[in-house]
Formats: sequence, structure tokens, C-alpha cells
Amino acid sequence: MILTPFSGSTRTDMKQIATHSNSASVAYFSMDVAIDSGIPTYSGGLGILAGDMLRSAADLGVPLVAVTLAHRKGYFDQRLDGQGNQSESPSKWSPESRLDLLEPRVTISIEDREVRVRAWQYGFRGIAGHGVPLLFLDTDMEENDPRDRVLTDHLYGGDDHYRLCQEVVLGFGGVAMLRALGHSSVHVFHMNEGHSALITLALLEEQSGSEAAHSISENEIETVRRQCVFTTHTPVPAGHDRFQTSLVHQVLGEARAATLSQMGVMNGELNMTELALRLSGFVNGVSMRHGEVSRNLFPGYDVGAITNGVHAAAWTSAPFCALYDRALPEWRRDNCYLRYAIGIPIAEIRQAHTQAKKDLLQQVKWLTGTQLDEKVFTLGFARRATSYKRADLLFTDLERLKAIARRVGPFQLVYAGKAHPRDEAGKAIIRRIFEAAAALANEVRVVYLENYDMALGKLICSGVDIWLNTPLRPQEASGTSGMKAALNGVPSLSVLDGWWIEGHIEGATGWSIGDGGGTENDSAAEALSLYEKLEQVILPLFYNQPDDYAKVMRAAIAMNGSFFNTQRMISQYIRNAYTCASGNGAQPLT
Ligand SMILES: *Cc1c(COP(=O)(O)O)cnc(C)c1O
Repeated sequence: MILTPFSGSTRTDMKQIATHSNSASVAYFSMDVAIDSGIPTYSGGLGILAGDMLRSAADLGVPLVAVTLAHRKGYFDQRLDGQGNQSESPSKWSPESRLDLLEPRVTISIEDREVRVRAWQYGFRGIAGHGVPLLFLDTDMEENDPRDRVLTDHLYGGDDHYRLCQEVVLGFGGVAMLRALGHSSVHVFHMNEGHSALITLALLEEQSGSEAAHSISENEIETVRRQCVFTTHTPVPAGHDRFQTSLVHQVLGEARAATLSQMGVMNGELNMTELALRLSGFVNGVSMRHGEVSRNLFPGYDVGAITNGVHAAAWTSAPFCALYDRALPEWRRDNCYLRYAIGIPIAEIRQAHTQAKKDLLQQVKWLTGTQLDEKVFTLGFARRATSYKRADLLFTDLERLKAIARRVGPFQLVYAGKAHPRDEAGKAIIRRIFEAAAALANEVRVVYLENYDMALGKLICSGVDIWLNTPLRPQEASGTSGMKAALNGVPSLSVLDGWWIEGHIEGATGWSIGDGGGTENDSAAEALSLYEKLEQVILPLFYNQPDDYAKVMRAAIAMNGSFFNTQRMISQYIRNAYTCASGNGAQPLT
């Protein structure tokens, strides 16, 4: 088994972190954070991004503390039957066995009840020893009402009422816990998506000294805005929480609801994105294109862009880590050195990739019983199964796919991805992939691996020959799995959306599906483009000019691995967002 642990830490580390941790200047809030496959408190890209951000913050010595919820029952474990029908079960874990319980308890109010909140700490330990603590808020305490004890159980589960209560725990509980821990020098509060937007209300109350309804002054709002940074992660409506006014009154109480009304963010409903936009001094999207799209979605707000990245060392397979350690020894400390991968002999690139591919195929065999062929061109597609990702676009024309395999050369496919338990369209996509797999059985092998998680993600991204991505434009705000692939010398074949618009150089770092022109998506035309690229360009290159294919692999590392990483991303947050928010010389945005 090759399921290497992600850079983590030990409990001893955490003790040390705890004693030095109350001098953080940035507090980072995220509803989900991905640490490793054993802590199932993430559902997809948002949590992965948060985890990678914290890993890189630790590497770079950024004085940062992060806050999330314990999610004792995790997201969910996925099982698939022979037809691709998904069933779900809780993905339980025990904070007790992985984290340290901190002493302070804080009290927040939900409806008319007092709810006690405690925190468990995980410590990210950076390459030079710097620690970044992550606090997991937990309401599962005896003194709480049974209704409140379960509030920190399910990630993205339950109804609107449950979700709003969770957001009260994250927002109000998070700020109160930081104060109880003595974090008095935090001057930037960074909201990773709108789920944590209630921190703005908590900070306003600190300004005014009470939660009693009173007239909030522009001055107080401005003071909070100077401290807040908001990153929006998706143009897809489901990514933006909205709550009925009546629910807001019930859960938050009259005084807080009045404050929200006064600020103009309760127009028939409370929109958490609106709240975060209104109270943040710096707002950004997660790729240059997503910045543009968000400016159109939120007219009147100044929205910048900082393109996402991934933690390079965490997502690079063991064979490539060994190669980089030899050829570019500084790459872990400074990812910029990956740029010089362009000078690594292609034989060594191919050798490392061959090992990564073997590791993947061995795991596929172990998980599914199917033996894929090492010599055969392998496409990978692993991501949340949801409509806009169009995981089944490749199967638009099965006869065409078979003909390509016969005429040009064989290929095989590795799929993975969970559908949200309430996303029926997403579940239907998984079933369609199973149907296509059955129809293609003798000519194109397709495996679908259950229970996509970080370990599987790393294995698939690094072991295939090409990374496929077929989102409906412009809904892939960034996408990060293609960045993981690039670090492992795996080029992308993707619709021009999100990060790929920036990382794509045709024939040099990978290939586009369609030309990215126009605003309308034409699935039939995109499927055609996908088939043509495969048939006329990619398969012939792979089978007839393997050295030239390996040059594309190498350029993907040098051009994209060196840039689309969280080291570069955090440096950009520091230069553009954190100085802005704190008013350190940068123009405050209006
Ligand atoms: C990287 C990763 C994601 C995000 O990938 P996208 O390309 O943004 O869809 C989601 N889930 C897991 C398990 C991952 O490793």
C-alpha cells in the first residue's frame, strides 16, 4: 500500500504549538478542512484547499490560527452497488484519538438556549518547525441540550435550521474561543467561503460591547471591514447559503436579526455571501476567470482574484518526491525550484511516472479485482459527482470511443467521486458511468473506485497518464486536482475554465477541450473536441512519440507545479489581502 500520510504532526508537537499559539495575527475560518484520510471532516475542494493552505502557512512560518467544526460523523462513506447506486453511512472518527482537548469553554446563544463549546486542537508542523494550530469546535458536551450536542456532528448534513445553527457555532463560537485562548493580536479574520460569515457579527458586537439592538455606526462597520477578508469559492448557487428571515429571527434572536436588517443584508432572506461581502475589506475569487465571474455576480463590490494552489510535497507521489529531492533539493522549502524540472532528463521523468502508475494499478486491482494494463494509456477523472462537472461527457458517443481505441490505440479509465446524499442528479451521473462501463466492457476498461478521499485522490492524480476535466463553464471556479496531477508530471485534458485557463499551453502543458470561446456550453461540440484531441493528437503522441509525450509531462511540472501551489497562493494573500485588510499601507477597498 502506498497511502502515504500527509505532512502532519504528533501530539507532542501540538503541546508545543499550544504554548506558543496565542500570538497569531491571522485567523482562518473554514467549515471544512482536509488533514488526512483518517479525519473525514471534508467533502471536496474547499476543505482540501483549506488544509493545503494551513500546511503551507506552517511551512512559511505565517502566524496563523485556524477554526473549523469537529464533524464527529464526518461527511459520509460511499458504497456503490453493481449498477452504481450510491449508499451512504456516517464516517465516524474520534477527535479524542487524534487531537488534544483544550481547556477553555465558551458559551454562545442559539435560539433561547445557552450552548457550551469546547475545542480540540490539531497542529500542523511546517518544514522548519513552525506550528499552525487548527481548532475543532465541539458542542457534544453533557451540559448541552441534546439538540445542541449533535450540532457539530455532520458536515453539510441536515436542513437549513441545522446548518444555520452550525454557522452560529463556527462564527460566534470561533471568535469567542480565540479570545478565550488569548489570541489578542489577530488583526485579520479570513473567511474561507460564506459559511463563517457570522464572525463579522461577532466582531461587530465586540466593537459595540453588546448584542443589544442599537444603531450600528458606519465607523463600527468600517473597523470590522478593515479586519475581514472573504474568499468566495464558487458561482454555483448551492455554494451560497441563504436562510429564511423567520429562521434567522428564531436562531439568532431579535437583536442580532435587527443588526442584520440595519446593515441591509436581510432582504427577504439572509444571504451569507452578502454578509461577508458587505463586511470585508478584501474579497477575492479563486482564479482570474472566477474573479471576473464574481464581479459580475456581485456588482458594486470590488472583487480581486488569487488563484488556488495545492501543497506541493503533500500531493507529490513518492517516486516523484525522490526524484525532486535528488534533482531539485530545495523544492519542498521553496516550490519555485520546481521550475527547473525542465532540466531533468526525460528518462527519469518517465521512470518515476512508471512507478506511480504501477502503484495505482496495484491498488485498483486490490480494490476492484480488475487488472488494468500498465502499457495502456490511462485517463483519470476523480471529483465530486455533481452535474456541472459532467463526469459522463466522455461517454457521449460510445461507438466513437470504441472506434478510437480500435484505430489509434487502446485506453482505459479510472473514475472516482462521491455525490452529495441529496444530489440526485449527481447520483444519476455515477449510474450512467457504470452503464457506459458495462457497454464498453470488452473494448475500453473503466473502473470506478468507491469512497474518493485524499489518499485515493493522490494515487489517481499521480498514476494516470492524463487528467480529464469537463466542467460546464464558468462553474469550475478553480479546480485543484489538475494541479496535483501536474506536480506528478500528469498533463491535463480539460475544458478551458478555472485554473486551466492560466495553466494551459496547448501541446506544451496539456490540451484543451474546445477553445474556451463564447459563453455558451455546447456539450455535443465539446465531446467532439474531446474525441478529436484524443484520436488525432494525444494517443498518437503517447504511442508513437513517447519521448515527446514525456516532454509535455515535464513541462507540466516545470510550468504549473512551480506556480499552482499554496506557497505561492499564501504569499499572494499576504501581499494582497492581509496587508489590505489590516490597512498596512495598502489602499482600503471601498
Ligand atoms: C483535490 C481533491 C478535490 C478537489 O478537486 P477538484 O479538481 O477541485 O474537483 C476533491 N476531493 C478530493 C478527495 C481531492 O483530493
